[in-house]
Amino acid sequence: MGTVTLDGVTKRYADVTAVEDMSLDIEDGEFVTLVGPSGCGKSTTLETIAGLTLPSSGSITIAGRDVTDLPPKDRGIAMVFQNIALFPHMDVYDNISFGLRLRDYPTEEIDRRVERATEIVQLEGMLERKPDELSGGQRQRVAIARAIVREPEVFLMDEPLANLDAKLRVHMRTELQRLHKELDTTIIYVTHDQAEAMTMSDRIAVIDAGRLQQIAPPLVCYNEPANLFVAGFIGSPSMNFAAGEVTADGLATPHFDVAFDPGQLPGVSPGEKLTLGVRPEDVYLREQAGGLANPTRSIPARTDVLEPMGDEIFVYLLTGETAEGGMGTDPDETTSQLLMSVDPDTDLESDRDVELVLDRERVHLFDTETGEAVSHTLEFPLAEPGATETEAEGDD
Ligand code: ADP
Repeated sequence: MGTVTLDGVTKRYADVTAVEDMSLDIEDGEFVTLVGPSGCGKSTTLETIAGLTLPSSGSITIAGRDVTDLPPKDRGIAMVFQNIALFPHMDVYDNISFGLRLRDYPTEEIDRRVERATEIVQLEGMLERKPDELSGGQRQRVAIARAIVREPEVFLMDEPLANLDAKLRVHMRTELQRLHKELDTTIIYVTHDQAEAMTMSDRIAVIDAGRLQQIAPPLVCYNEPANLFVAGFIGSPSMNFAAGEVTADGLATPHFDVAFDPGQLPGVSPGEKLTLGVRPEDVYLREQAGGLANPTRSIPARTDVLEPMGDEIFVYLLTGETAEGGMGTDPDETTSQLLMSVDPDTDLESDRDVELVLDRERVHLFDTETGEAVSHTLEFPLAEPGATETEAEGDD
């Protein structure tokens, strides 16, 4: 049973808290990815699970056993790192079986495990090659096979694809998914690449500054980000944000307004600072928004830079008064910029006045101060006709 539980794990170094009060419950057979910007504490978290570093406080349980103080070899884990250290003078068979031979496993058992592992990572027929006769991807597969033969309860992988070129990385992503399906073993995977996290994982744990921000299936993090950090980190290109203030009938930002009944949002009242978030694919040219059930009112904008990607066009827009001809009045005002993605056959050029609408069902609201998500739609239930007051609900 490859369950892994972190309970309040904190790791402090002399002048930095690398991981703070991290609690995770990872199920048997789950593929969980720790993702976040460089320096956020992903590797340190993984190292505490591996036993390569001891937490300052908190506990770690693997397969129901408290392993907090156990050495790595007694934890039932196998690690694959970014820097693959293969023995250059040994062939593939010897590299894969090295750990087993060290532990005096019987030859038939070693052969059985090596055969199965090489089959899984598709290295059959290459057992006699030396590392310098292999491609980067093949060497990485040897490293993975070496972990597989240990038959661990849990695989720990720290950026194992980081040194591969872009094309091979994408290919190895599908290989790792296949591997996971085949082995049916828990995998905890570290990457700073949110696309890698999104494509492979059952759940992703988004970390910032040593703290867990959200752990959820990739699409939940994408569609219902818990806070501004997750909203901005997950998704490429990033979500658009516009800081504003709640009015009696919606949110006013310096460049556009959206309407809703603030009384319907628990704990929100006029004067409060909220930040609106909308993904580029949820911004539409008004003339292309016919299929939207709930568009916002039109927002005037001016097209700036166009980036044709082949399957879509990214359109950078300037909103608000800049659209009236007073371009560039405040170059530092980043909220005047909005990114939209449109169909590749859209007839559009730069410096054109356009009307935009947002999909109200996919507009997010965040508390500007705490960053916490307040709503993932503007289409929350409207007041019952004739209702005179909104029932006040406790919001915390
Ligand atoms: P990530 O894997 O997300 O890039 P790390 O877990 O490697 O981040 O590092 C988290 C923080 O802890 C960073 O600020 C890093 O500098 C610090 N750190 C990591 N290892 C050590 C160490 N051995 N000594 C001191 N600080 C460290």
